[in-house]
Amino acid sequence: MTKRFADIILPLAVKNRFTYSIPDHLMDDIVPGKRVMVQLGNKKIYSGFVSDLHNNPGTLKNIRPILAAGNAGPEINEIQLKLWRWISEYYMCSEGEVMRAAIPAAMLPEGDISAPVPEKYREKTEKYVKLAKPFSGEELNDIADKLSKAPEQLKILMTYLHLTGYKTGRGVNEIRKSSLLAEAGSSSAILGSLERKKILVTIIKATGRLEKYDEPEGPLNKLTENQLYAYKNITGTFRDHEIVLLHGITSSGKTEIYIHLIEEQLKQGRQVLYLLPEIALTTQIIHRLRRHFGSVTGVYHSRFNNQEKVEIWNHIADKDPVSGYKLLVGVRSSLFLPFHNLGLVIIDEEHDASYKQQDPAPRYHARDSAIMLAAFHGAKTILGSASPSVESYYNAKRGKYGLVELNERYGQIKLPSIIIANTQEAYRKKLMVSHFTPELLNAIDEALGKNEQVILFRNRRGFSPYLQCPECGWIPVCDQCAVNLTYHKGIDRLICHYCGHAASIPVRCESCGAMGLVTRGYGTEKIEDEIKIVFPSAKVGRMDYDTTRNKNAFEKMIRSFEEHRTDILIGTQMISKGLDFKNLTVVGILNADDMLNFPDFRAHERSFQMIEQVSGRAGRRQKQGKVIIQTYNPENNIIRQVLGHDYPGMFRMQLEERRAFRYPPFSRLLRINLKHRNRTILNQFSNLLADRLRAFFENNVLGPEYPVISRISSWYINTILIKIEKDKPLGKAKERTGEALSSLEKETGAGALRISVDVDPI
Ligand code: ADP
Ligand code: ZN
Ligand code: ZN
Repeated sequence: MTKRFADIILPLAVKNRFTYSIPDHLMDDIVPGKRVMVQLGNKKIYSGFVSDLHNNPGTLKNIRPILAAGNAGPEINEIQLKLWRWISEYYMCSEGEVMRAAIPAAMLPEGDISAPVPEKYREKTEKYVKLAKPFSGEELNDIADKLSKAPEQLKILMTYLHLTGYKTGRGVNEIRKSSLLAEAGSSSAILGSLERKKILVTIIKATGRLEKYDEPEGPLNKLTENQLYAYKNITGTFRDHEIVLLHGITSSGKTEIYIHLIEEQLKQGRQVLYLLPEIALTTQIIHRLRRHFGSVTGVYHSRFNNQEKVEIWNHIADKDPVSGYKLLVGVRSSLFLPFHNLGLVIIDEEHDASYKQQDPAPRYHARDSAIMLAAFHGAKTILGSASPSVESYYNAKRGKYGLVELNERYGQIKLPSIIIANTQEAYRKKLMVSHFTPELLNAIDEALGKNEQVILFRNRRGFSPYLQCPECGWIPVCDQCAVNLTYHKGIDRLICHYCGHAASIPVRCESCGAMGLVTRGYGTEKIEDEIKIVFPSAKVGRMDYDTTRNKNAFEKMIRSFEEHRTDILIGTQMISKGLDFKNLTVVGILNADDMLNFPDFRAHERSFQMIEQVSGRAGRRQKQGKVIIQTYNPENNIIRQVLGHDYPGMFRMQLEERRAFRYPPFSRLLRINLKHRNRTILNQFSNLLADRLRAFFENNVLGPEYPVISRISSWYINTILIKIEKDKPLGKAKERTGEALSSLEKETGAGALRISVDVDPI
């Protein structure tokens, strides 16, 4: 029976169904996954996707018709629809919010009813020139004779023949018009004359915006005995497991193993999704992959513009074995691309927190969502890490995931030696030079002397985290947020890292009027300044949020370090992850304490991972590397465990704490964030909500409390944490939470409250 109504997913945060009628002329076109335009409210026209067809208008009156449908077939496939639905249910948001994260904005034109809504995506075209027909040698001679009085025209023709290597009896090649004219030193007008004489023609071709690459260069690297063993272990484990955790120390060849797994999938004609937590990583790995797999390899992240994103999307949807993408390397949002035949999902650095989207909704975890995506495709998943998350390792230990371990670095290079530098003692003995301990300075000096490279890690950007009045201790803070303003020397401004607010440097203390505020603490910018003073002849680079805003900045900096045009690279966590540099032997961690002291139950796990990760950059070829960790707490457990590269020790200790305090993996967490511009009203509603939640969750409700940053952009913040025991049904818990939230929203005065829910917060 023909279905006369369609439910449409619209890019809105409301969970209502949006039902429209299907007009007769679209009856054959409208299928689930089809992109359509519909009117909502009095004026607005939205793009959305058909999720369902039915004959059940319910009690709705005045159902509006679908206005228009996209061109060819459905634009999202059934699995995508299924994934959107799963994410919206699991992470407690609307499918429309998932759609907004999933679809490049250029695929979602919007407008109002006063005028037709144009498509936003435009094909990129270029003009090409070719012979009007495959002239014979004789004909060409004739033409040349006739052109002898028009030497400029003759020159274009000869240049064309030369550049394309035209031979009689063969096909006619096209050449880009701009290159032809540049080479011939000629103009469009003169080319026009040749066109009128029907000698050359100009054609317009859709060229696309994406970079073109060469075809693969040759065979894969041969796996070492150890790697081969792990590889076979993985493929063997896949026979009775959907998911394998590859726990391999840094530089053991995890990436090499992925490459072999990818090769096997591509041979079977299946697609592979390769997730990485950081754009900087995708730019390095893409070269390694394209060398092997050539033009079927795509890359996806937020630095692509909207038009480019649509083209990448189309390549993934493209089932053609030549023009379609088979392998996609990307960051978390890549899991929304229209894969049609996934065989394998690789989630490298699976422990990394940037896989979780914080804001806005959907607050999804890309690792966990990608595991679902793989399941929907009947694909396998491999999680890789040198220091897996406690949750994943626990799942592997319990047999839920397969576990494969690689304990040897490629080339039998030893793991870097770790040197703990006690900053407190160095300060006391007055041995510190700026922010550097003697241990660190010696190591840098030695490395530079041997023409080796150095990375200095500091997880704080800007020059100094705050300014202070030396007389009274006053500190400039953001007037919108509860944070100190960070001093950025390059632009000589104070910047709020939470709302972006910028202010000039106050000449006087606003509290006591004293002149001359002083800088306190240090960020990457200051390290850069000071290291240049200590090592004046070293070439120093800095990679952080501030220096990588331009589209190709990552690529340039990584290239510069790879080619040893930089000796010392300073950076935030974006340099800490899987980058692979052959001549890097010394890594300095300037202050391990900030991470350790962060008030979060994952702080110790995170610190261990961060330090292991950044240490792993050192000494990846030939030589053993050296890592200097500056800390005030040399006796801290995590520092001790890092010293011995003792992942199992860290895991056991963290697991026991989690068990004792019933944190994941022994429970699930649900965090509710409440915001209001008025602190008193916020507290009132937060308390009310917490009380109502306690009626059901009892003492598993923690809070409300103020988070570390208790006010951002003029909004006061409260959080409530719910622990859901592992043996209690999660669905029920979410349902109750949802009910408590909707009843709170209906309270008088709750209109100006902003509420969000974070499932599995990290
Ligand atoms: P991981 O991903 O575990 O950090 P990689 O796969 O990046 O390790 O390997 C570390 C380095 O050693 C890389 O530069 C890689 O090219 C090299 N390497 C690893 N295994 C091999 C191999 N079997 N043949 C050649 N080079 C290898
Ligand atoms: Zn003062
Ligand atoms: Zn601010």
